[in-house]
Amino acid sequence: MANSNAASDVSYTNTQILIVGTGFAGLGMAIRLKEMGINDFIIIERAKDVGGTWRDNRYPGAACDVPSHLYSFSFEPNADWSRVYPTQPELETYLQNVADKWQLRPHIRFDHTLNQARYDEKNSQWLVNTSGGDFKARFVISGNGGLAEPKLPDIPGVESFAGHHFHSANWDHSYTLPGKRVAVIGTGASAIQFVPEIAGVPAKLSIFQRTPNWIIPRGDRPYSRIEKWIFKHFPITRKILRAKIYCQNESRVLGMVLHPSIMGLFRRSAMKHIQRQVSNPALRPKLTPNFPIGCKRILVSNDWYPALQKPNVEVVTNGIKEIREHSIVTNDNVEHEVDCIIFGTGFYATDNPIAGMIYGRDGRQLSQVWKDGEEAYLGASVHGFPNFFFIVGPNVTLGHSSMVYMIETQVQAISRILLATDENNAATVEVKLDVQQSYNEKLQKLLGGSIWATGCDSWYKHRTGKITQLWPGFTFTFRRWNRDFKHSDYIFNSVEK
Ligand code: NAP
Repeated sequence: MANSNAASDVSYTNTQILIVGTGFAGLGMAIRLKEMGINDFIIIERAKDVGGTWRDNRYPGAACDVPSHLYSFSFEPNADWSRVYPTQPELETYLQNVADKWQLRPHIRFDHTLNQARYDEKNSQWLVNTSGGDFKARFVISGNGGLAEPKLPDIPGVESFAGHHFHSANWDHSYTLPGKRVAVIGTGASAIQFVPEIAGVPAKLSIFQRTPNWIIPRGDRPYSRIEKWIFKHFPITRKILRAKIYCQNESRVLGMVLHPSIMGLFRRSAMKHIQRQVSNPALRPKLTPNFPIGCKRILVSNDWYPALQKPNVEVVTNGIKEIREHSIVTNDNVEHEVDCIIFGTGFYATDNPIAGMIYGRDGRQLSQVWKDGEEAYLGASVHGFPNFFFIVGPNVTLGHSSMVYMIETQVQAISRILLATDENNAATVEVKLDVQQSYNEKLQKLLGGSIWATGCDSWYKHRTGKITQLWPGFTFTFRRWNRDFKHSDYIFNSVEK
């Protein structure tokens, strides 16, 4: 890999490769570059430390619903995971340790928020403006993540609320809940984790549920000291456990994509869970979804239903009409007075604001290119945006297994393209438009027969209805498609470097 131009402009920092973000994606990419002997790279990070989503989402009870021994880098195993499902503090520490071990911190520019990345066609480079300064980079790799930008609901009057309020991804730990009337809007993956942690604390907790989710039991438990000792001294046991979790999760694809009728098994488990945990027969129908299981993300929890039945907790299902200065008004015109609203209303997965900051060839804004739904080739490359790659771009998210596996797959794929660019003595690499289009046609065909297309609304879908977030198959198929990388899928442009 050629070195970046040493004669830098005064106002720009030159770098060969600029990575955005220090979550699993950004750190994973940086490690791969180091393994390849490439040290001319900079990582920009908007916060003060590494960790991405596992640094930001610090709400009570934050944890991952993929088991720890799979939700970690294959090359950085950890025999010491405290329990089956890793908690947020543990994951944050894990990523900090990985950054230290691989000596990535000297490459990171903290407090650098991306404002704009603009392709400079004349010089085949990207001009990147951040809150901490400007950069010129030959390549930009976005490890920004699919769920980085918290979303507030588009409820009339939401901005007029005068009480305290915060989003689950920006939890206000300084706000004390005892004695308060607290509302939670949203009942997704985040809410079902923090509600049980806070349920007994406020004077009154009102949960505003628009759609109930399918929830199955969470097989969580701490690992014993003996188990950890065995994992440490007999690494094969850890590898077998990882393989077992991987295979179990992959088997879900059979129901989600190939034979949705298999999902009946999960439905039975979820129905039994409601019957076992919800004693109030009037509450059961309110908590039972009316869409096929798996269409939205299947959630795992043992303490959500018990939390909803605490004496100070109410589940409000009448739909929100408007938010006023000190209350939430539901469609039945009942006014619920509240002191605080906690928004568990998710993230901009589609219409991710980062697309509005990226300008490719001819000044085309990525958000305009994606106005009818996000599309990329192998979730990484977009025609018209040379030398720019996404990690966890369109159609890479999973409904069934570990995103770290997908991230590792993409990191390897991008590194192969970087090498091929130099082998071809090219200044730029760009996916061919017809390759990108036929790939997406194939994906949409597979997605059309999947459980996700069965009529529910979810963050997997763009507002046009197109499923732009999910990978429709086995993760090993994604890895195979990436490994079977064809130079002819790309345009290598050998203009002057
Ligand atoms: P989410 O799953 O998108 O849930 C958002 C919730 O807010 C839904 O219940 C939604 O209702 C509700 N909502 C949104 N707009 C609303 C409105 N205008 N009025 C009323 N309700 C509204 O968000 P999340 O819980 O933050 O989770 C997002 C994703 O993060 C998850 O699916 C998962 O991939 C990831 N996550 C993962 C973990 C993990 O363990 N790995 C943990 C937390 C989060 P509707 O369902 O009706 O739209």
